[in-house]
Amino acid sequence: MYKILNYIDGELREPETGGWIDNYEPATGKVYSLIPDSDERDVAHAVAAARRAFPQWSTRSVAGRSDFMIRIADRIRERHEELAQAESTDNGKPLSLARKVDIPRGAANFRYFGQAVTQFHSETYDMGTNGFNYTLRRPIGVAGCISPWNLPLYLFTWKIAPALAAGNTVVAKPSEITPMTAHLLSEICIEVGLPPGVLNIVHGYGAKTGAAIVAHPDVPAISFTGGTTTGKAISAVAAPMFKKLSLELGGKNPNLVFEDCEYESALATSVRSSFANQGQICLCGSRIYVQRGIYERFVADFIQRVEALKIGDPQEADTDLGAIVSQDHYKKNLAYIQLAREEGGEILCGGKAAPVPNERCTGGWFLEPTVIAGLDIGCRTNQEEIFGPVVTIQPFSTEEEAIALANGTSYGLAATVHTRRLKRAHRVAAELEAGIVWINSWLVRDLRTPFGGVKASGVGREGGTEALHFFTEAKNVFIQL
Ligand code: NAD
Repeated sequence: MYKILNYIDGELREPETGGWIDNYEPATGKVYSLIPDSDERDVAHAVAAARRAFPQWSTRSVAGRSDFMIRIADRIRERHEELAQAESTDNGKPLSLARKVDIPRGAANFRYFGQAVTQFHSETYDMGTNGFNYTLRRPIGVAGCISPWNLPLYLFTWKIAPALAAGNTVVAKPSEITPMTAHLLSEICIEVGLPPGVLNIVHGYGAKTGAAIVAHPDVPAISFTGGTTTGKAISAVAAPMFKKLSLELGGKNPNLVFEDCEYESALATSVRSSFANQGQICLCGSRIYVQRGIYERFVADFIQRVEALKIGDPQEADTDLGAIVSQDHYKKNLAYIQLAREEGGEILCGGKAAPVPNERCTGGWFLEPTVIAGLDIGCRTNQEEIFGPVVTIQPFSTEEEAIALANGTSYGLAATVHTRRLKRAHRVAAELEAGIVWINSWLVRDLRTPFGGVKASGVGREGGTEALHFFTEAKNVFIQL
């Protein structure tokens, strides 16, 4: 059985425990590789290596660091097909999506931050004849980067690239559910000659390996993307140690469709924003609110489009929805559909396991895309993050009501608004409690923009200058003239 290995101090190593975790292919339900069951000893080795590498890496010229970032990006691009296959096998997502989105974005993260750091500058504040202030921005030291399973290489590199570009060394942990492309990234770092210890990748369970990174006294900054409950647990350990924390957490994103929308675009975008990656994108719109005047027509057209989506083997070119990432997550989704029924929801389509698409996929975890109506904002189905191919749909009458419904959960990650009225678009965007608002669009990303959520969706922002600020400490220096 193929063994994924830790990448510590420039080498691929087995875990100290000698233990291994099964790695499943979601489309078949079968174990296809083994993951190191690392513990605090592996994390300690990784942190020690990262500390040793820090003085040289942090004082290397910006151009020198940038050069490594660009070489990694180029190598990801050269190994694109292999990485896309690995991502699809490991996660269950359609191969077409991994080819188009996940892997190009992994390369883009390294390329973007490799370039951005060459333009990164600090501020001066002139006080005239008194003197002036200037701000030094220095890397923090060893950064801990922990990422989830839904966009494995994409989100892993979204943290690692800015941390390295800013001059930190890194100890990173991918999700134990989807570790394969992080492992291939280790190989790439070796291939491009990244100095030992600059990036260390330790695999294992969150509560063991992840927790050891968070608790390590020599890791002063933690960048975490994952669930809100995990974010709370990490904060409870890291905050009393005064670590710098960036938390990108869960969402329950509203999708507002006004009567004055561009109907066809709103419909097509809503299908995508509901079910892309089997609904397993933190930015998916899982609560659809449609204005009464077009509600009946929209629901009928939406259901027709959703029923036409092809649930299939992720490897097949025309598959729209692949497999759910794990058996636990598959069962969690089914339990939420059952809860929605108990709460009085009407299942308009889907609502059950999908037939396996072919013999290879016997044992895989496939779910029908599910649309539920008739639930009010207060019920658990509309309050809790399901993170799968399950959405609710409800009518609203006025703009005020739409905003109240959109803001009516503890989350505040992203929101989508469909309207042709410019004033309404601006007004609603300003009122929504969300870190990201898309008007007449969804998931359009520009890596320079701030990314993150409010309320239970997180603390801090990633992306562009925000990420380079997070991974550096500012020190103001005043010079008396
Ligand atoms: P998760 O919180 O279970 O795990 C995320 C990562 O944290 C994994 O690597 C896991 O091993 C690790 N971990 C778990 N417990 C830990 C602990 N106690 N200490 C340190 N590390 C620990 O999340 P998941 O199920 O992998 O991902 C799904 C969640 O991620 C959803 O809630 C989704 O909304 C969220 N998400 C958010 C964003 C965003 O940008 N806001 C993006 C993608 C996913």
